[in-house]
Amino acid sequence: MRFSRRGFLAASAAGAVTLAGPAFALDKLTVVATTGMIADAARQVGGDLVEVQSLMGPGVDPHSYRQTRSDIVAMTRADVVLWHGLYLEAQMEEFLHKLEKRGTVYAVTDGLDRGKLRSHPDYDDKFDPHVWMVPDLWTGVVDQVRDVLSDVRPDMKDAFHANAAAFQKELGDLQAYAERVIATVPQESRVLVTAHDAFSYFGRDFGFEVMGIQGISTQSEAGLNRIGALVDILVERNIGAVFVESSVSDRSIRALTEGAAARGHEVIIGGELFSDAMGRDGTYEGTYLGMIDHNATVIAQALGGEAPARGMAGKLSAGF
Ligand code: ZN
Repeated sequence: MRFSRRGFLAASAAGAVTLAGPAFALDKLTVVATTGMIADAARQVGGDLVEVQSLMGPGVDPHSYRQTRSDIVAMTRADVVLWHGLYLEAQMEEFLHKLEKRGTVYAVTDGLDRGKLRSHPDYDDKFDPHVWMVPDLWTGVVDQVRDVLSDVRPDMKDAFHANAAAFQKELGDLQAYAERVIATVPQESRVLVTAHDAFSYFGRDFGFEVMGIQGISTQSEAGLNRIGALVDILVERNIGAVFVESSVSDRSIRALTEGAAARGHEVIIGGELFSDAMGRDGTYEGTYLGMIDHNATVIAQALGGEAPARGMAGKLSAGF
C-alpha cells in the first residue's frame, strides 16, 4: 500500500505518524508521462523520489496514439500526469483536458516561451510540437517538470532543483556536442530528408534544411507529387543520404531512394533516427541523452561530417 499524498500530509500535520525508513520509501510520488522523453525528464528530476511510468514505449507514434484502458487507470491513480501539449497527443487531447479537472495534469510545453517556438505550417494558432529535438529547448521543459513536481511535493523541492540543475548541465554538454559534430558537415550537404517533419527545430538551430515527406504530423499521407518533388531535389542537389525514423513507417523513404535510383542517382539510407520516440528501454538510446546523441552522430557521419564512432560519450550501440 502506498500512502496517498493527502493522507501523508494529514498524518504528518497531526504528528500521529512518524515517517521513517520503509514507510517513507513507499511514499514515492507517482508520475505518469505520455512520451518516453517526458518520462526521462521526470526520472532525471525526480530521482529516487518518484516512480515514473511512460505510456508510449519505443517506436510508438505520439501523433496517433490513443490511451488504452490501462493507461486511463494509471493516469487516474497517479499523483501527477505529464503530457507534452502543442497538439502532439492529438488523439488524447480531449481525454487529458477532461482529466485536468480532476487532478494534477500538466502539459510540459505550456510554460515555454512562445517566441522560441516554430509556428505550425497547417494551423495559424498552433506550434510545431517537436521541441525535444534541441537540448537547449528541452532544458526549458525540464524547468517545467521541476516546478510541477516541486508544487506537488514542496518537501522534496531542494532535491528536485538539484537534480534538474545536474541534468541541465548534461543537456548543455549535449547541445555543445551536437553543434560541434554538425558543424563538420559540409555546407552543401546540410539537407535532412526524413519521413515526417519532426526535425524543423533541429534544422533551425543547427543550420540544416529539413524536408519531410509527410507533414508535421504523421497523420497526413505522403502524396506521389511530394515524393516526385523530393526525388527531383535529391537528384538536382546531389544529396547522398536520407533517413528513416523509428516511429514512422519507412515505406515512403524507400520510394525516394528507388525513385532516385531510377534516375541514376544513388541515395543511401543514412541510418535510423529517433524522431518521436526514444530507443529500447534499458539501453543508452532509450534515454533522452542517448536519443539525441544518436541522432547528431548518425546525421554527421552519414552526410560527410565527422563524429566519434560511438558518439559523445562512447556509449552508443555499435553498428547503429
Ligand atoms: Zn512527429
